[in-house]
Amino acid sequence: MKDHIARAVTTDGFIRADAITSRHLTERARQIHGCLPLATAALGRTLAAASMMGSQLKEPQGSVTVQIRGNGPLGSVVAVSDGQGNVRGYLHNPAVDLPLSADGKLDVGRGVGIGQMVVIRDLGLKEPYIGMVNLVSGEIAEDMTAYFAESEQIPSACALGVLVDTDQSVRAAGGYIIQMLPGADKSAAERLEESVRSAGAVTKMLDSGMSPSEILLRVLEGFSPKILSETPVEYRCYCSAERVTGALVSMGREELLKLAGEQDHFEITCQFCDRQFLFTAAQLREMADSVKK
Ligand SMILES: [Zn+2]
Repeated sequence: MKDHIARAVTTDGFIRADAITSRHLTERARQIHGCLPLATAALGRTLAAASMMGSQLKEPQGSVTVQIRGNGPLGSVVAVSDGQGNVRGYLHNPAVDLPLSADGKLDVGRGVGIGQMVVIRDLGLKEPYIGMVNLVSGEIAEDMTAYFAESEQIPSACALGVLVDTDQSVRAAGGYIIQMLPGADKSAAERLEESVRSAGAVTKMLDSGMSPSEILLRVLEGFSPKILSETPVEYRCYCSAERVTGALVSMGREELLKLAGEQDHFEITCQFCDRQFLFTAAQLREMADSVKK
């Protein structure tokens, strides 16, 4: 079984939509970072959003980074997608736990707190495009909607959900982003709102085993949606010894020599996938020599 992203447009061309099922990639993130349920939900929602935004780029070399910079106990949440929707991410305090909210749900909003959401869109060509909005609720989906409205002037509807099982594994995860394109009239926006409301909670759809295409057909019922694609996505990190070496070299000669003088071995752990890279003091000195004086 794999996670998938589906894309649809309505036949009038005024609405485009993506939906994702992301249970497996969210479970992978949980295992890598040792997340408690609250962190699993916050990271899982952010990963799902970043994945859908990345897959919209249509740029194989591109990437989308979503940073949730709240002042809550979870700390910052970061997710990075490649141009196909394969994602990786981390959050600063994966072992934070809070009481359930009044309606019996994981209190992601309180875990995230207040702050900003930053989205960095890199098409791999020119300067990346950076947008920032204040967090509305810290529940991620509402914050995404605010981001699209304020930063990109796109009216949208976004739903994200993560269900954690009694053994803390991920039972279901995913969501959708529906965007109104220029030219759509007010009545379409109202009909969409109604359609989204009557489709019900996205976690219910995910938990019932619906595919992302089925979710889109349900949410856009009445708009004659056409499914354009359904493609697999996964948790994917791009770290490598070369990349880590590049990052070390960019620290500069002085810094490298200082490190080499402090320890025989220097260990760097990838914050996205926990892979470890080991360098000897001799290797660090060699890198220092490769940097122009
Ligand atoms: Zn990695």
